[in-house]
Amino acid sequence: MSYLEEMFSLKGKTAIVTGAGRGIGQVVARGMANAGAEIVIICRHGADETIKLIEGDGNKAYYVQADVTDEKQVDAALAEVMKRSGHIDILFNNAGICMHQTTMEATVEEFREVIDVNLTGEFIMCKAVGKIMIDNGIKGSIVNMASMSGSIVNIPQWQVSYNASKAGVIHMTRSLAAEWVPYGIRVNSLSPGYISTPMSVDVPKELIDAWMPLIPMHRMGKPEELIPAVLYLCSDAAGYTSGQDLIVDGVYTCI
Ligand code: NDP
Repeated sequence: MSYLEEMFSLKGKTAIVTGAGRGIGQVVARGMANAGAEIVIICRHGADETIKLIEGDGNKAYYVQADVTDEKQVDAALAEVMKRSGHIDILFNNAGICMHQTTMEATVEEFREVIDVNLTGEFIMCKAVGKIMIDNGIKGSIVNMASMSGSIVNIPQWQVSYNASKAGVIHMTRSLAAEWVPYGIRVNSLSPGYISTPMSVDVPKELIDAWMPLIPMHRMGKPEELIPAVLYLCSDAAGYTSGQDLIVDGVYTCI
């Protein structure tokens, strides 16, 4: 293995990827498996397609069911992972939801639901995985899924709950990064712009047409274009990088 391959390699690591049954999680999990990691997928509705793709590449993956908003389900899922794999080295905290609505349309329950999955769910996963890493002396890496919406306000759709949840993820990431330096655990966040997945393309065509002039690269990103960013953050290549938010957005947030 060359020096560079070794630096970015995930060989021998067990990586949990939440929400990898479809979308970004599916594609990035496959990329992480190709870099050598054994993948554990956590979501609510199964991940047969992702497992088939990863095993088809000759790599390893399995599914454990849990809702990331439920601490008991998460603890039970992680206990199963420890029994089966013996260690957890990487968490790609990717599961998330989005609601497009004005503030006056949004109910408090809907606001809570988005915060519950996107922010509290990521906290529950960080806390549970962080405890396993600390208790077992594992110098692991956590990549929390944020969004450019954590730094800017998207238009023309309104999504106050989503934007607030992702801003929370970015600052939670910095807080955990500082707190967990003594344990050698690195925590970073990833902030994509518009990426072609069910979450972003199952919207009215007029909305996608309205986004295009606002993206300097005039296209949505492909989920594949996030693989190198996640590989960097969760591998030894980013050994001196923690508490950072990596924005991958086709230049959206620069203008
Ligand atoms: P998708 O809607 O395609 O996938 C979301 C995944 O999250 C699904 O696999 C779903 O699985 C899982 N999920 C949702 N709620 C829960 C829950 N309570 N517990 C466990 N798993 C859950 O979304 P994307 O792939 O587009 O997005 C992935 C992440 O990337 C999200 O955090 C999103 O906010 C973020 N992002 C997306 C962008 C985009 O343009 N697509 C841009 C920037 C950020 P299941 O239903 O089986 O539980």
